[in-house]
Amino acid sequence: MADTPLSPEIQLLCDLIRRPSITPDDAGCQELLIERLSALGFVCETMQFGDVTNLWARRGTASPILCFAGHTDVVPPGNESDWSSDPFEPTFRDGLLYGRGAADMKSGLASMIVALEQFLGENKEFEGSLAVLITSDEEGRARDGTLKVIAALEERGEHIDWCVLGEPSSQESLGDLVRVGRRGSLSGMLTVNGVQGHVAYPHLAENPIRQFAPLLAELHDVEWDKGNDYFPPTSFQVVDIKSGTGAPNVTPAELTARFNFRYSTEWTHESLKQRVHELFDAHRIDYDLQWHLSGEPFLTTPGKLTNAIVQAVKEKTGAEPELSTGGGTSDGRFISPAGVDVVELGPVNASIHKIDEHVRVDDVVALTGMYRRIIELLF
Ligand SMILES: [Zn+2]
Repeated sequence: MADTPLSPEIQLLCDLIRRPSITPDDAGCQELLIERLSALGFVCETMQFGDVTNLWARRGTASPILCFAGHTDVVPPGNESDWSSDPFEPTFRDGLLYGRGAADMKSGLASMIVALEQFLGENKEFEGSLAVLITSDEEGRARDGTLKVIAALEERGEHIDWCVLGEPSSQESLGDLVRVGRRGSLSGMLTVNGVQGHVAYPHLAENPIRQFAPLLAELHDVEWDKGNDYFPPTSFQVVDIKSGTGAPNVTPAELTARFNFRYSTEWTHESLKQRVHELFDAHRIDYDLQWHLSGEPFLTTPGKLTNAIVQAVKEKTGAEPELSTGGGTSDGRFISPAGVDVVELGPVNASIHKIDEHVRVDDVVALTGMYRRIIELLF
């Protein structure tokens, strides 16, 4: 590649990969983005929360606001000697660009910046604002990132109308899948209290394993919902169970378990918790249940934004993208509750978080074109 000049998004992507921004360290990535956005007339505001650096940049004061969003942080490379090349030195092989963050999601960032440059190079006047929201805390705890930026914006009455997240949404080929929502994620940490005893005298003890077993079977058998037009059926999974004293002649006093629901918009976390407690209470066991909510489900219903995305993808690839709500959680869960239409469109996700993470060079250039087209269609 030495002799061929790199396209602007690939050049920027390389510059970002060279900054080893292992979560939550931004490692100077946002500085680079600020330089580019300031040159375009964006007002750039760094929002520091704890050790997390966030960026809110906006060009224009009118509504509606179209915001591109994403994160500069990456997951650790793992064992660097397992990589075919230095994870923080962008390396080209066979039309692919290798490096940590190449797919998740520095290519998304590079494409959105160049798309904005291209659009603003030709369109000085349009009705509305363009914005960019970047965090360095998506791969980590995600407490001082997008969540707090959205709260700060809400507090001063700044409302995003449309948001395009550059997360790697594609499965086999660029644009084959666009995320229009995500399932909710609710975890339970359970303790069942029994009475320890001699295995030969079960009537003198309360065995928590025996108490929990039929309830566990029921939790698996329940049809929580049938899903709906946008979501698959809600699923329940146990991820951990512990009990037992280690002795073969003692029934234990306690059982602990962890489980998780991935749930559809047929539930809120409150209604789901209530249903679970009803099931537990029907079994008359002594238990304690702690909950952790990672995110409520969200959904962007068909409208201007989804139409623009579908059209932009179709023009580039010739095929309509699948609109999906599958996969894990993303920062969309923090943006959507503010009444924002959120969609996720980015490169193929097959190598994310893995050794030898990579992206197709042509896909990054094509993604810029899609983002640019989305801006044109919305304004
Ligand atoms: Zn990501």
